Amino acid sequence: MSNKPANNIQDLQYFGEFGGVNPSISDSATYTFLHAKTMLDTFEGHAEGCYLYSRHSSPSNLYLGEALAAMEFTETANVSGSGMGAITSTILQICGAGDHIVSSRTIYGGTYAFLKNFTPKFNIETSFVDITSLEKIEAAITPTTKMIYCESISNPLLEIANIPALAKIANKYNIKLVIDNTFSPLMLSPNKLGAHVTIHSLTKFINGTNDTIGGVVCGTQDFINSLRNVNDGAAMLLGPVMDSLRAASILKNLRTLHIRMKKHSSNAQFLAEKFEKDGLKVVYPGLKKHKDHELFKSMYNEEYGFGGILTLDVGTVEKANELMELMQHNNLGYLAVSLGFYKTLFSASGTSTSSEIPHEEQVEMGLSDGIIRFSIGLDNDIERTYRAMHKCMTQVGVLKENIYI
Ligand SMILES: *Cc1c(COP(=O)(O)O)cnc(C)c1O
Repeated sequence: MSNKPANNIQDLQYFGEFGGVNPSISDSATYTFLHAKTMLDTFEGHAEGCYLYSRHSSPSNLYLGEALAAMEFTETANVSGSGMGAITSTILQICGAGDHIVSSRTIYGGTYAFLKNFTPKFNIETSFVDITSLEKIEAAITPTTKMIYCESISNPLLEIANIPALAKIANKYNIKLVIDNTFSPLMLSPNKLGAHVTIHSLTKFINGTNDTIGGVVCGTQDFINSLRNVNDGAAMLLGPVMDSLRAASILKNLRTLHIRMKKHSSNAQFLAEKFEKDGLKVVYPGLKKHKDHELFKSMYNEEYGFGGILTLDVGTVEKANELMELMQHNNLGYLAVSLGFYKTLFSASGTSTSSEIPHEEQVEMGLSDGIIRFSIGLDNDIERTYRAMHKCMTQVGVLKENIYI
């Protein structure tokens, strides 16, 4: 295994059932056994290489899982029908009634809603903490804490988790560090930095074409086996399974991820620097003034840069909406949630992807109404894009003058 994530994907070799360069797509929900005894062994989890039923595993899903495990330097992985399916089954596998979670307070809105509103029904309590304060994280740990949960780059504030330091704390208390790495595939390798479980929403950069929802949990063979266990595995019993056809198509897109990530990052870096010079309130981990810039550099796989996501605070939600509508009208991107598309996507975080977070908590964590989250696209001529964005910003009064007229 190489220590470079894209090499590990490149190094996988496929000889399909008929010699195809892509593995054949498995098209079955159930599988035959030549001997009844093997079926029993498979149920008990002992028959390597045998398939039972596609909610448990299927050849196409295993191919995709192995490629993602190679990318994340983990023993194996389990793909699921959505990022939320991966997150919720991981949390419910690790935690039960009476357990406690220490979570970053700036996480994906769906995950926040799950921990805040749903898991309390099972008597699982969560403390939401500022992930950049290691003291607060450690202080929040109680004897019933089972995991520290956070995103490598937080959504939407783009705070950076100090993964090696968090892993040290987790190990000290013998609890799990679970990282959602959706914003930074290839850029950061959480398991290599000490995390125990790495999760992705495949819906975003990894698939990159916005034609499907998907997720993955990457971890040890033991943990993935426990997720798939027919008797008490959350992935098996809750059933967030991915369809084989989709797994095959995501695997094909994964192979160009390294090229796309470099372009997303260099385009975002270019725009962030320009916006900064223009005096706009831009947040991007690749800017020297970003408070976690040096921390990010101490962890990242340098060739992929600082990622495709930046935020711009234009003051009010009205201004944000006006600007986004104009940019969409001028075909600079889409007013849409999600990220990792070939076109730029923008949304006002406070009223969309983070709307599950109550307004007063949004204010407390520094989530202003006027924040627009941009997922920068693969634009070939980013200078042209910048000029056109600049024009829109001048037109709505976010910028005073248009230097390009
Ligand atoms: C989108 C997203 C999710 C949820 O993934 P789905 O595929 O939509 O279920 C979780 N975490 C982060 C950081 C995301 O951006």
